[in-house]
Amino acid sequence: MSLAEIVAFCPRCGARLVQQERFNQLRPVCPACDWVYFADPKVAAGVLVRRGETVLLVRRAIDPQRGLWTVPAGFIDAGEDPAQAARRECLEETGLEVQITGLIDVIFGQEHPRGAHFVIFYRGVETGGRIAAGDDVDQLGFFPLEDLPPLAFTTTARLLETARRMS
Ligand SMILES: [Zn+2]
Repeated sequence: MSLAEIVAFCPRCGARLVQQERFNQLRPVCPACDWVYFADPKVAAGVLVRRGETVLLVRRAIDPQRGLWTVPAGFIDAGEDPAQAARRECLEETGLEVQITGLIDVIFGQEHPRGAHFVIFYRGVETGGRIAAGDDVDQLGFFPLEDLPPLAFTTTARLLETARRMS
């Protein structure tokens, strides 16, 4: 189901929305007050943390892709600095405090209906905290880039491939 199909009523006046061409595509439009629904992308931020030749990965404890591995990442709240979102997600999922030291890549591609449309991946270095599996995670650890566990997402695989080329 597309976002346009989920939004049935005008959030401003409550009238039922209709599909009309606005700004070069069909969009839900309110026939009563002319409000137009623009589907904005969902954006996630993640962080790659290294210890020598190894990278920090977390195992997902939730669907989709439960039991598979990815880097600490999550949705950015509206108004939140993406780098801060990456730090926050890392702390929540792994217990580790990190400092963001650079941008690695922005990877586009939604992998499941509730997933992000693109992910902003940063490089981070540990500054403190104590390692412990947290939100939505049941295991975590540092893995050699040449010996990775089964990965959850294509975006994760692409990020780690980039990391391998950079090392
Ligand atoms: Zn309206």
